[in-house]
Amino acid sequence: MNDIIVAKFGGSSLANAKQFRKVKSIVLSDERRQFIVPSAPGKRYDKDYKITDLFYLCHAHVQQGISFDYVFGIISDRYKEIVTELSIDFNIEFYLQEVKNKIKNGASADYTASRGEYLNGLILADFLGFNFIDAADLILFDKYGCFDSEATKCAIEKKLNNTEKAVIPGFYGVMPNKEIKTFSRGGSDITGSIIARDVQASLYENWTDVSGFLMADPRIVENPKPIENITYKELRELAYMGATVLHEEAIFPAREGKIPINIKNTNSPQDKGTIIINDENAEENLYTITGIAGRKDFTVIAVEKAFMNAEIGFGRRLLSVLEAYGVSFEHMPSGIDTMSVVVNDSQLDNKLDKILDGIKRQCNPDTIHVIPNMALIATVGRGMARTVGVSQKIFTALAKNKVNIRMIDQGSSEMNIIIGVQAEDFEKAINAIYNVF
Ligand code: ASP
Repeated sequence: MNDIIVAKFGGSSLANAKQFRKVKSIVLSDERRQFIVPSAPGKRYDKDYKITDLFYLCHAHVQQGISFDYVFGIISDRYKEIVTELSIDFNIEFYLQEVKNKIKNGASADYTASRGEYLNGLILADFLGFNFIDAADLILFDKYGCFDSEATKCAIEKKLNNTEKAVIPGFYGVMPNKEIKTFSRGGSDITGSIIARDVQASLYENWTDVSGFLMADPRIVENPKPIENITYKELRELAYMGATVLHEEAIFPAREGKIPINIKNTNSPQDKGTIIINDENAEENLYTITGIAGRKDFTVIAVEKAFMNAEIGFGRRLLSVLEAYGVSFEHMPSGIDTMSVVVNDSQLDNKLDKILDGIKRQCNPDTIHVIPNMALIATVGRGMARTVGVSQKIFTALAKNKVNIRMIDQGSSEMNIIIGVQAEDFEKAINAIYNVF
């Protein structure tokens, strides 16, 4: 492990010159911050545009044969304003013209979208006095467009071992045919995580506009407590349930390299933020519960049949029906004579009736119930496995608040209790669970 920090700054951290100055003071305040990964400029206020969205719009206009001058003008003004207000001697006009020409000549959507990070990286490197290293020289995809971890590792080791301080734009890389390829939206988080892994950094900082993860969604719970530390596994469970600060795929490279991730707030750098740590290094959590998250729009298909437990192949036949219709399921709580599958509504389309017919044919059940409008709530905490009475606490709190529990599922990791409630009870249930802990 090297005493290096890789710091990724999100779009809101680099949305204008004022934010650039905050970033500079953060970067320069610690010598170890060696590799800086910027996003494209994000929103300055609620109704503002993200530069990446505007670049995608430029591409769509070209595809439809419509002039993209107006949209490109908005993009140019944003960058020019940043450069002017930072008072740096940087020829942004030159790069803007180059990018505009390429888009006009039919550049791909990925190339066009990636220019948000590229231009921001050039400006930031100049402003910090750091080298600029194009992500197209480091982040490599294979000819099918899949990220090539091994080739990237070699490229990063070769290039960054001899580099003192550098800015490397997030979000994109290159395919063997030299075409630019982007990760999915929000992918600069992934770039930072990959670089942190391959330079064996001691820390990956992810700078955003919030001071880390909160124990619950602040739109549902008033003033939830921040989470000081969380394991990769806990985060994965909460992220799946909708707690989003970090791109889901950004967890894996850092986790592989055993590098802690610190989520920090550019607007309040003194806040500790949340540290995401290795599962085995996790210290005791002060609280039994690390966080609560949930999602709506699930349907439960509950199947009942006497002596199901003794019937060989019942579960397989049930799931084969879902598979035949290309439907994935999220959970499968089961009892002696009952088996339920929980499916995200987006999976079902108009297939529900056909699936029910299929189950009747394949499984010959006594009854099938469909429970629509379900919400799932996950209560996650590594402290749970050693603590007696966690589920009792949850169920009592829900009963007191008159929330009917329709389904219970506890993962075998014993750090996640998932309950299903009717969608209208969702907010009430989350508040009840949060308050009892
Ligand atoms: N700028 C890209 C997006 O808006 C990537 C990122 O910000 O991480 O999705």
